[in-house]
Amino acid sequence: MSDSVRFGPAGIPIDTPERSTANGIAYCQKIGLQAMEVEFVHGVNMKEEKCREAGEVAKKNGISLSCHAPYYINCCAKERPKMHASVNYIVSTAQAAFWLGASPIVIHTGFYMKRPASECRKLVLETYQMCLDEMEKRKIRGVVLGAELTGKKSAYGCLDEIIDLAQHFGLKNVMPVIDYAHYHAREKQLKTKEDYLAVLEKVDKALGSEASRHFHCHFSGIEFTDAGERNHIPVSSDSPPFAPLAAAWKVNGWEGTVICESPLIEKDALALQKIWQNEGKR
Ligand SMILES: [Zn+2]
Repeated sequence: MSDSVRFGPAGIPIDTPERSTANGIAYCQKIGLQAMEVEFVHGVNMKEEKCREAGEVAKKNGISLSCHAPYYINCCAKERPKMHASVNYIVSTAQAAFWLGASPIVIHTGFYMKRPASECRKLVLETYQMCLDEMEKRKIRGVVLGAELTGKKSAYGCLDEIIDLAQHFGLKNVMPVIDYAHYHAREKQLKTKEDYLAVLEKVDKALGSEASRHFHCHFSGIEFTDAGERNHIPVSSDSPPFAPLAAAWKVNGWEGTVICESPLIEKDALALQKIWQNEGKR
């Protein structure tokens, strides 16, 4: 079995007995997954001891961890206090990730709020820099900020913008986290291997092979409107289809981690893994 691409759920698997982060990680191993994203989307609420405990379980079971920062972040907020609150959310996620041994921390960068992207970019760069400075001050090392490709057209974080952030800060500090369902919903519908190859080639060209050796991405089915994402749905919807992406990764030799954000987080992570493995047999 190829483990060059690792699969895992966005959060504690639904069928985990005695639900906890540590038990969720052990359950991932039991059902044959190799990754898990720890969700802090409603706030960072894990103490150091619990983080370290869960981190140990992950290490023992060969599960690689990442985190998802709170939804309340806006790195291009109009008001300074909101920018500072965003820095706090990001740095406390980074702190928990450091204790967990997790990276990257996935971030929904912000909202344009009817302003030009260039105006928002200045504020985003400033906020990300504040986060990196504060992480350095607290000696939080080895945790990368993962700028997610966001699903709504009103949100900062199209493919070009997250590539730009990684270029500006360097891949050791900021990496692009492509959510293919979001791309499908807000930019261009993904159907064929060529559609996916165009995305991968853009990243390769801008960021080099390092970006393709250790990618971190999200995948699920998605329903959408003209404004972009509406909601995540099971991968059996084939909207977008996963097999052509698996094929595109094989062509380009991409390796990394896929976090499944469908409502069936662990069952669909296994379904994606199966598609990936079958792609290898062709
Ligand atoms: Zn997200």
